[in-house]
Amino acid sequence: MGLGELNEVDRALAAEVADWRRRGLGRSVGGGGTDGRVAVDFTSNDYLGMAGNAAVCAAASEAAREHGAGGRAARLLGGGSPKTADLEHQLASWLGADAALLLPSGYQANLTLMAAIAGPGDVVVSDEDNHASLIDGLRLSRATVKVFRHADAEHAAALLEESRGARRVLCVTESVFSMGGDRAPLVELSEACARLGAGLIVDEAHAVGVVGPRGRGGFAASGAASAPLVAQIVTGGKALGAAGAFIAGSQALVEAVIHKGRGFMFSTAVAPAVVGALEASIGLVADADPAREILRAHAVRIAAAAGAPEPSAAIVPILIGDERRAVAAAEALRAGGLGVRAVRQPTVRPGAAQLRVACHAQHRSQDIDALLDGLAPILGAGDGTVRAGDTDGAQRAVETVSSPSSLTVPPPPVFIVGTDTDIGKTVAAAAVARALDAPYWKPVQTGEDSDSRTVERLAGPRPDAARVIAAPAYEFPLPASPHTAAAAAGAVIDPEVLHVALGDRVREAAPAPLVVELAGGLHVPLTASYTQADWLARERPRVVLIARSGLGTLNHTLLTLEALRARRLTPSALILVGEPHAENAATLAAHVDHLFELPTLAPLDPGAIDAWLAEHPLADAIRRE
Ligand code: PMP
Repeated sequence: MGLGELNEVDRALAAEVADWRRRGLGRSVGGGGTDGRVAVDFTSNDYLGMAGNAAVCAAASEAAREHGAGGRAARLLGGGSPKTADLEHQLASWLGADAALLLPSGYQANLTLMAAIAGPGDVVVSDEDNHASLIDGLRLSRATVKVFRHADAEHAAALLEESRGARRVLCVTESVFSMGGDRAPLVELSEACARLGAGLIVDEAHAVGVVGPRGRGGFAASGAASAPLVAQIVTGGKALGAAGAFIAGSQALVEAVIHKGRGFMFSTAVAPAVVGALEASIGLVADADPAREILRAHAVRIAAAAGAPEPSAAIVPILIGDERRAVAAAEALRAGGLGVRAVRQPTVRPGAAQLRVACHAQHRSQDIDALLDGLAPILGAGDGTVRAGDTDGAQRAVETVSSPSSLTVPPPPVFIVGTDTDIGKTVAAAAVARALDAPYWKPVQTGEDSDSRTVERLAGPRPDAARVIAAPAYEFPLPASPHTAAAAAGAVIDPEVLHVALGDRVREAAPAPLVVELAGGLHVPLTASYTQADWLARERPRVVLIARSGLGTLNHTLLTLEALRARRLTPSALILVGEPHAENAATLAAHVDHLFELPTLAPLDPGAIDAWLAEHPLADAIRRE
């Protein structure tokens, strides 16, 4: 506030931020551009150097001189410059679309587009790694969202298939993913959309200018059939070097956004300088094939040296795993003049922190040499240690970051989620842990019975380790909902404690996945205002849903599936525990990828579980992701 005193809200916010910083998740914005220490920028998305291109900058100043500094008003109220419509035509014809509409940013374009063309009653099938702006746009749309496993066209097709009959069905993906740098399977997605009557939306933020004939992006590069393509989003702030974003598609699509897109209708038009810059840069970028080749060669070289998969475009992700180690590695590179960012949760999964290297066409080969030298100790090619205070190259950091395990991402945990309490969840958890040869953890235990002990007995020990990885983070004697049991013991559950403990347990469990058993049903509160469902939404784990077999199963199970889907979680499997019930199983099989019936086992011991597992491919169903 600048008044020297913090109010209640500010104090709480300051505590939250301090906690993020403590856990290696602190962020700061700095002054923009590269700071004095950074000689080579491997962070920004200015892939072709257009942001500093003399002709682009001159076009921006000229447009400002001619048409003023501001957009003045929303387009529908006469805002924008006379050149805006020309620019939209230029972009559309470059891309091969009928029409395009310019918005102030890619974030706003995605929000506006999704909310304008999808709504209640519609289904949107969305890649799990899609950008936050697409996810937020889908939330705003209130359409039913079904999330498919990253770049898994088969899973997307299955979700499209089960959504037939909805009012409108769409599939949305990035063409080149902003963090992984990999490409979407656009040929397969386009084929599935065509076959199943769905429309395809492709965010080309990291592809336009970088891949495809004349830099037209990932869709053009893929050779996919264009019939189901409804929209492409092209951002102006990355390879095009300026700002803003285009929604490109048919005339009908653009008109729909003009009529229904609130982010277009109620927002001031893009400033003339941006329009001028984009007009100049699109021309240059279309003709920049030689620059694209250089860019690709840089990315291929870095990926090969770092042991990363062959890059699809300009981005090379280097997995580090632990958040603090990723920050230390980025800091070490920065000290050596190399601007590389650590990417951490929530941008990527907890425990999957990475260094994101963005190649630019204007990098010289000695810049790449310097980066590879800087990466060597981080990747363990040197003596394995990144040293504090070492000023040679990038070898300054605070921790060792090179043990091989730190370079592998732990698999996501498998959460065992119930539709209710007392339904056989612990037996199912034991079966899952045994099937995956995985350690088990019960984060919150209420009541005198210990689920950990039950699982230890039923699943037996692991070949070289205990089955139960750690004691619960919270244990309360009252057999009640966690928030009630905590209150009875004069305690409060802190979701942050659970989150941090989960991250630690997941890393300890690696390379095995951690099996985590929740308390009672999905919506059980952990605090007065935070349920297990909220926690799940934050962690994005794999989910195995457990229901009891019998009367009431259908309603409980369908409600829980709906609640999971609302949080973008698709269970890997549903296990119905108890007497097999053919009708229930047949009905529910249509709603999940894999359904298993786990009858009451007698005797209930590891041998009986093994006999059941021999007949039921539970591990395959869960590992398929
Ligand atoms: N989509 C993707 C895939 C992105 O990576 C980004 C930017 N990080 C955006 C959309 C948002 O674009 P803008 O920066 O123009 O808001």
